[in-house]
Amino acid sequence: MNVCIVGTGYVGLVSAACFAEMGNRVACVDVNPRVVETLKGGKVHIYEPGLEELVRRNTEQGRLDFTTSLEEGMADSEVVFITVGTPQAADGTCDLSYVEAVAREIGQRMTSPKIVVDKSTVPVGTADRVRAIIAEELGRRGADIAFDVVSNPEFLKEGDAVGDFMKPDRVIVGSDSEHSAKVLGALYGPFARSRDKLVVMGVRSAEMTKYAANCMLATKISFINEIANICERVGANVSEVRAGIGSDSRIGYSFIYPGVGYGGSCFPKDVKALISTASDHGYDARLIRSVDEVNNAQKHVLADKIIAYFNEQGGVAGRTLALWGIAFKANTDDIREASAIEVIRDLTALGMKVRAFDPVAGDRAREELGHLANLEIADSQYGMLDGADALAVVTDWNQFRDPDFDRIRTLLTVPLVFDGRNLYQPERMGREGFAYFSIGRVPVK
Ligand code: NAD
Repeated sequence: MNVCIVGTGYVGLVSAACFAEMGNRVACVDVNPRVVETLKGGKVHIYEPGLEELVRRNTEQGRLDFTTSLEEGMADSEVVFITVGTPQAADGTCDLSYVEAVAREIGQRMTSPKIVVDKSTVPVGTADRVRAIIAEELGRRGADIAFDVVSNPEFLKEGDAVGDFMKPDRVIVGSDSEHSAKVLGALYGPFARSRDKLVVMGVRSAEMTKYAANCMLATKISFINEIANICERVGANVSEVRAGIGSDSRIGYSFIYPGVGYGGSCFPKDVKALISTASDHGYDARLIRSVDEVNNAQKHVLADKIIAYFNEQGGVAGRTLALWGIAFKANTDDIREASAIEVIRDLTALGMKVRAFDPVAGDRAREELGHLANLEIADSQYGMLDGADALAVVTDWNQFRDPDFDRIRTLLTVPLVFDGRNLYQPERMGREGFAYFSIGRVPVK
C-alpha cells in the first residue's frame, strides 16, 4: 500500500518505519526542514531504541522517503495519516492548530481520493472538524474528490515505541465506513494478527478510547502516589503495600509504582484535555481533576524532602545537588513535562546548585533549560558527584538501578541519597552507610 505520514515525531516516524518494514511504501512529510534533512541523511532526530536501524534499512531499500512537501508526499497515497503534535493550549484545552493546518492543506492539495486518518490524540469531535475543513477547501476549489476521515489513536509508549507498534495490545479503528475500516484492517493486518486485536468502533468512541486509556493509567499513578504519601505519614512501606494489593488479580502490579509523578508529552496534557472536554459538555470530571491535582503536587515531593533536610542543616542556598535523570522516564530523550524540571526549578530558585546528568537527554536539557541560573548539565554519571552534598535520582534508567555505591560515597561530601523512584532498598542503603529518603517509605537517617 502507498501511505503518507504527516508529522515525523515519535508517533509518525515509528508508524512510518514499521509500516515500511511490512513492505508498504511510505512517504513522510514534516514542516521542519532540519528534521527532513536529518532523516534523508540516514540519521534519526529523536532517541527511540531500534528506530534508527529500521529507518535506515527501509530508506535504503526504497520504501521510506522524506519530504517537506505535503503535495508530493500524498500524491500517490490512498491513506494519509495525521501524526502532528496536539500540545496543551494555555487554557488546558487541546491545541488543534497543527491538525487543522494539515487538514486544510490536504483539502487544498489532494488530487485523488484519500482516507485521512487522525492518529494524533485529539478530542472527541475532531474527525468531524477535519472532515468539515477538507470539504470546505475542496468546495473552495470546486473539486469533487471522495475522501473519508477515520480515527486511529496510537497507544505506543516512548522508550519501547517500535516494540509496541509491532506488537500492539490492540489497534483501534474508528470509522463509519466499511471500506475505510477494511483498508485500515489490511494495513494493520501484519501487526494485529489475531482478529480480536483489531477493534473497529464508531469514530467518537475511538477518539474517547485514547483519553480513557491515558486517564486510567494516570489515575493508577496518582492513586499509588497518594497511598505512598499516606504511608509516609503513618509509618507504612508503600513497596510492601504495592506487593499486597498487586497480587489481587483485579488490581494487578502494573502502573502502581510510586514516584515523582507522571510527565511526558501525553498524560499531563491528555488528562487536562479530557477535563476540559467534559466541562465543555457541562460535566465536572471530579475524579480526573483530582488525578491532575495529585500529580501536580507529587512533582514537588522530592524537592520538598531535599529542602526540609537542608533547612535543618542551615539552608539549601549554596549547597550542591547531583541529580540523575532528566528525561520524563527511562529510554527516551523526551523531557516534556518531566518531573526533573520541577525538581530543578524548585531547588535552583532557592539558590541550590544543581548538576544534572541524563544518559541521553542532556543535549535537549541544555537547549530547554540552559538559561536557568544555578544549573549545570553534566556529561558523566560519576564525575558530577565530586563535591556534591547529596544525590537525587529522578528517572528510572537501568544504569541507575545498581550503581557503584562505594564511588558515590567517596565522591559526595556526605553519604546522602534522595530517591524519587524507589530504585534502592532502604535496608541496603542503611548497610552501605547512606542517609536515604525515598517515596512512601520510612527514611534511613
Ligand atoms: P512530536 O512533537 O514528536 O512530532 C510532531 C511532528 O509534527 C514534528 O516533527 C513537527 O515538525 C511536525 N509537524 C507539525 N506541524 C506539521 C505540519 N503542518 N505538517 C507536517 N508536519 C508537521 O509529536 P509526537 O510525540 O509524535 O505526538 C504526535 C501525536 O501523537 C500527539 O497528538 C500525541 O499526543 C500523540 N501520541 C504521542 C505519543 C508519544 O508517546 N509521543 C503516544 C501516543 C500518541
